Amino acid sequence: MARTVLVLGAGMVGTCTALHLQQRGCEVVLVDRRAPGQETSYGNAGLIQREAVEPYAFPREAGFVLNAALGRGAEVNWHARGLWQMAGPLLRYFQHSHPEAHQRATQAYSRLIAHCTDEHGLLIDAAGAQDLVRREGFRFVFRTAQAWDEAVQRAARLHTQFGVRYQAEDTAQLAQAEPALRLPLAGALHWLDPWAVQNPGVLVQRYADLLVARGGRVVRGDAHTLQAQGAGWSVHTHEGRCEAAQVVLALGPWADEFIRPLGYRLPLFLKRGYHQHYRSPATLNQPLLDAERGYVLAPMQQGLRLTTGAEFAPLSAPPTPVQLAKAEALAREWLALGEAMPEPPWLGARPCTADMLPVMGPAPRHPGLWFNFGHAHQGFTLGPVAGRLLAEMILGETPWVDPAPFLPQRLM
Ligand SMILES: Cc1cc2nc3c(=O)[nH]c(=O)nc-3n(C[C@H](O)[C@H](O)[C@H](O)COP(=O)(O)OP(=O)(O)OC[C@H]3O[C@@H](n4cnc5c(N)ncnc54)[C@H](O)[C@@H]3O)c2cc1C
Repeated sequence: MARTVLVLGAGMVGTCTALHLQQRGCEVVLVDRRAPGQETSYGNAGLIQREAVEPYAFPREAGFVLNAALGRGAEVNWHARGLWQMAGPLLRYFQHSHPEAHQRATQAYSRLIAHCTDEHGLLIDAAGAQDLVRREGFRFVFRTAQAWDEAVQRAARLHTQFGVRYQAEDTAQLAQAEPALRLPLAGALHWLDPWAVQNPGVLVQRYADLLVARGGRVVRGDAHTLQAQGAGWSVHTHEGRCEAAQVVLALGPWADEFIRPLGYRLPLFLKRGYHQHYRSPATLNQPLLDAERGYVLAPMQQGLRLTTGAEFAPLSAPPTPVQLAKAEALAREWLALGEAMPEPPWLGARPCTADMLPVMGPAPRHPGLWFNFGHAHQGFTLGPVAGRLLAEMILGETPWVDPAPFLPQRLM
């Protein structure tokens, strides 16, 4: 008889975990309080970041830290309560960002990132979602020649070490590639391997539709009703109580509120981020990161989406979209952004860990409970890879990537 697995959380990570379990013969019930792909996996920049082989470190340059502390610039914003609540994990994040520790994290992280487009590609084909995806890479653009030079050197190193492909573009080449840019910029790095999804939430929904077409169930329910039951677990859903021997927590930024009552205090924290859509008369051919200012512009089905950098604030704190206002003004310097859509800015949060690696594996003290969260800046990218790795662990297969650096106990 097929074994049943409950997956709590139908973001990119949970939905892909459900698909990989199903592919291996499990009956899967995917539970979420909302429809699939309505939260963080909806609001991101839609990039499948094959170039992101290095996890996002705490910037250690004194100038950056001072600007962030003084609330200058668009990259970072913070609430005093957020910094206070997250002080412990943030301090550990700073320590893990030391170049040697960061290099170790990169060794593990790059092994996941290496498979991101291949694994998404299989699901995109199976889900018939090719219409949502552009496979032409994306650009980092630079305002100063010095920053561009440094970035080109870094790209050359990443190419040598990890095979990441890029093209350095000077002012004229960039102007030709993106004629909508009004200001001459110093140059760009065109990462050639990443893909851009024009409606990230809809891609998750298509993956969930695939799960259902293959016999899986997607049901509404509240993960707070999860209970240990006999040798397994049960959760209350709109379709009644569902039971299974195994349950996966794929609750993205909400994971911490579930694992704390179970006695797990992992160094997790959040980087909130905003987006706004614009009715831009100018068309960008590929998404752009304004690399020295820390925001992304990505063409989406809904319009041109501007996404912001990190805000250190509690998940439930009221929105303070100051970075959005600053980034909008910066983007208007070089692009006809057009009117903002008449909708409130979207607010979500990147679920981060102190050592920059996701948490994937069995809960150390609860048999049958599995963790799959903490994918930070690249959870949309890593969903299929994370889903495959966790499904292989649950079913006792030999994982195709060494799971040791991602197991929860490393953080305990
Ligand atoms: C501004 C911004 C830009 C980003 N850009 C990119 C990008 O370009 N590329 C990239 O790879 N990543 C990007 N990210 C990061 C990425 O979006 C996240 O890492 C990823 O979406 C996390 O996926 P998830 O499935 O873990 O979480 P989510 O997508 O948040 O899914 C968690 C699910 O849990 C559900 N849930 C929560 N509580 C309950 C409950 N009590 N009961 C039932 N269900 C519950 C939620 O409804 C939700 O559906 C970005 C993030 C932000 C904020």
